[in-house]
Amino acid sequence: TEERVAELRFKGHGMLAPFTAGWQSTDVHPLVIERSEGSYVYDIDGKKYLDSLAGLWCTALGGSEPRLVKAATEQLHKLPFYHSFWNRTTKPSLDLAKELLSMFTAREMGKVFFTNSGSEANDSQVKLVWYYNNALGRPDKKKFIARSKSYHGSTLISASLSGLPALHQKFDLPAPFVLHTDCPHYWRFHLPGTLNCKFTIAAFIAEPVMGAGGVIPPPKTYFEKVQVIVKKYDILFIADEVITAFGRLGTMFGSDMYNIKPDLVSMAKALSSAYVPIGAIMVSPEISDVIHSQSNKLGSFAHGFTYSGHPVACAVAIEALKIYQERNIPDHVKQISPRFQEGVKAFAGSPIVGEIRGVGLILGTEFADNKSPNDPFPAEWGVGAIFGAECQKRGMLVRVAGDNIMMSPPLIMTPDEVEELVSIYGDALKATEERVAE
Ligand code: PLP
Repeated sequence: TEERVAELRFKGHGMLAPFTAGWQSTDVHPLVIERSEGSYVYDIDGKKYLDSLAGLWCTALGGSEPRLVKAATEQLHKLPFYHSFWNRTTKPSLDLAKELLSMFTAREMGKVFFTNSGSEANDSQVKLVWYYNNALGRPDKKKFIARSKSYHGSTLISASLSGLPALHQKFDLPAPFVLHTDCPHYWRFHLPGTLNCKFTIAAFIAEPVMGAGGVIPPPKTYFEKVQVIVKKYDILFIADEVITAFGRLGTMFGSDMYNIKPDLVSMAKALSSAYVPIGAIMVSPEISDVIHSQSNKLGSFAHGFTYSGHPVACAVAIEALKIYQERNIPDHVKQISPRFQEGVKAFAGSPIVGEIRGVGLILGTEFADNKSPNDPFPAEWGVGAIFGAECQKRGMLVRVAGDNIMMSPPLIMTPDEVEELVSIYGDALKATEERVAE
């Protein structure tokens, strides 16, 4: 059959795919996406899918924004590359840094450092905090507190910060300077987290809303309370806004929504609407001033990537930021997200659903037997995978992680697309219920 031919076409392919069962991926027919248009992607056989995860929480402006293509093309013609090392740089990187500093209004920020990804951003945070503490003459203040279920990336340091056991097992991680505390997942743990503060703690890192851990929004005042504690112990606060920046929650940054006044911020993904890889960190003026005033004594901050501040990536990001502001994307999210949240949460009574949680345009579903956090379905039933496959059959892509389902659609979604998402979700859930009952 045609289906079988399509399946064999990529059998034995040569790519080790991230987050699959290693080399076994060779024997699995990958879904090969060929093109995108707005909130939809199309596979190589022309089948259309509503992309309910916006790629990987990142194509905020959808898959066919001509202004981003134009910005990239013009920059490629003008200056495809120059670096930003030492005292050389390019205009797009300077302009982007300035724009980011002015857009972040949760508190004043001083400087921006560019990376290629969220993982590199968080690695850079750790090195920067260490450098800063060295500048202040307290090199022992080295430890980081992160939270269970957090995701901060896949490099050695960012995977260490992450609180997902799969990222640690078999990699000799987390690194010893990382401690993990509880996350505010009340349904599962019933209890709030506790902080075990020591004076060697340099920084606390948190996603305003946890993403890859299963979409876990905190209680409204959680971060206000955390900030009181970290301030008391002179611990820096790093907001990992890699998913939440640029409107996902209905505010320009997640920090705005939860009244976070971070010392450092990580960004990536929607920074360029994912059209080209780019990440960034923002540093408070206090940290930046210390580093600046002490750097003669300490030597240079010997850290940087060939593509830090890549002019094409920066040109695209500048255009993306213009679009977020001109079209008031956070406001659009505010308008359409109630129907998205309520539409999906209306299925919370399903006998196989433990919890549905989310805010703005990010939402997680956790399947559980007897609707109880203590009764996971047997892993071999693959309930999450069944739901994912039922969605895919009906033309929608979701993220499946065990029995957690995650959605973070493009921020440009239309009300009709929200209806389509809710309807496919409901049909796929019904089909999953029937298969679980068999
Ligand atoms: N931080 C958060 C909150 C993320 O969700 C991710 C990726 O999903 C990262 C960091 C890592 O970003 P990247 O995959 O660009 O390295």
